[in-house]
Amino acid sequence: MQTESKSPLELEQCLKCSICTAVCPVMNNTDAYPGPKQCGPDAERYRMKDIRFFDESALKKCLNCKRCEVACPHGVKVAELIQTARRDMSQHGPGLREIMLANTDIMGSLATLVAPIANFATGLQLSKEVLHATVGIDHRRTFPKYAGTKFETWYHRHAAQNQGQFKHQVAYFHGCYVNFNYPKLGQDLVHVMNAFGYGVQLLEKEKCCGVALMANNMYNQAKKQGQVNIDSMRKALQGGVETIVTTSSSCTLNMREDYPTMLGIDQKDVKEHLGLAVRFISRLLDEGNVKLVWKEGFKKHVCYHTACHMARLGWNVYTLNILRQIPGLELDILEQNCCGISGTYGFKKENYELSQKIGSTLFNDIEATNAEAVVTECETCKWQIEMSTSLPVINPISLLAEALDLEATQKANIR
Ligand code: SF4
Ligand code: SF4
Repeated sequence: MQTESKSPLELEQCLKCSICTAVCPVMNNTDAYPGPKQCGPDAERYRMKDIRFFDESALKKCLNCKRCEVACPHGVKVAELIQTARRDMSQHGPGLREIMLANTDIMGSLATLVAPIANFATGLQLSKEVLHATVGIDHRRTFPKYAGTKFETWYHRHAAQNQGQFKHQVAYFHGCYVNFNYPKLGQDLVHVMNAFGYGVQLLEKEKCCGVALMANNMYNQAKKQGQVNIDSMRKALQGGVETIVTTSSSCTLNMREDYPTMLGIDQKDVKEHLGLAVRFISRLLDEGNVKLVWKEGFKKHVCYHTACHMARLGWNVYTLNILRQIPGLELDILEQNCCGISGTYGFKKENYELSQKIGSTLFNDIEATNAEAVVTECETCKWQIEMSTSLPVINPISLLAEALDLEATQKANIR
């Protein structure tokens, strides 16, 4: 695969300060992981000379949370070094478990056809025990529920015909979670953007962004899917949409940062127009370009969790800018701690206990707030937090949809 290769000069940027080791959630919760400095720049010097220094069992423990990259004062792409080594040097193909967990489009398409049966079956302890024993998916894990109607189906039935009335247009990359598991988030996004005077278009073709495929070493398939997404986004921009909005922090980080470096996809022309809806909305608010009409008497107490990939994007400021403008919202901002699931990582039986141990600080912090809900942009954090605490988790776009008088806001903005 043609990708940007690591230069020895990038390794020379590491000054061995060990700051990255202080923030690594895996290293801080198990002695079995040597940590970012050792698995990243230190070992890379040896791996470049001889593949025998590639230690897959150690590198597989990395969550790819990228907290080490956020912390590194010298800009070393530590997580990328680790993932690149796994991509280029692993001798092992994916097993049945990896194929099942990573092919979200295929699994989602099948499961939504028989959603009640799929949800019933994956909720049964007997099924969980069988999956644990046969493919290695941990029997203590709760599976996300599938929706009976896909978001795309809802959009074409109930929204598509109304979008042309808006002067401004955006395209929406919804991701497989919204499409197959939680269409309500996509519906909220359409309602909020319409209230602000923006029509929402779907991409001509959309595939799973590939983050789970990449985590499970299925890079060729991820590249094909990524190229479809970027080609469709380019076409949408050429067709006149102002921007491409998203609602998932991990999909967004993957498509913006990892497509060129890990998949060799050239998306420079698209990248600047691709971002989370919260960034787009926060900028509209700062520029005074939209009017907001809030629901009278709205009251809610929430706590905000900065997902690791949101921290890597550095975009939690946009969400907080929006949340701070909601009257009646009591907002606690949690200390940034990893929830431990890291996409498919926490589903694997060998990782489950470590995953829960990593998340325990965050779970305790959440319970201590006595909030009604957790707000975050990451769907897998949602699965993990809802499984491990007593609180529901909502995306900031859904919270905005709940707090706004959508009809009055739309009237104010398209007058
Ligand atoms: S990768 Fe960055 S944070 Fe880690 S030891 Fe090197 S310079 Fe320090
Ligand atoms: S990406 Fe996360 S788990 Fe991996 S080395 Fe960096 S901090 Fe540790």
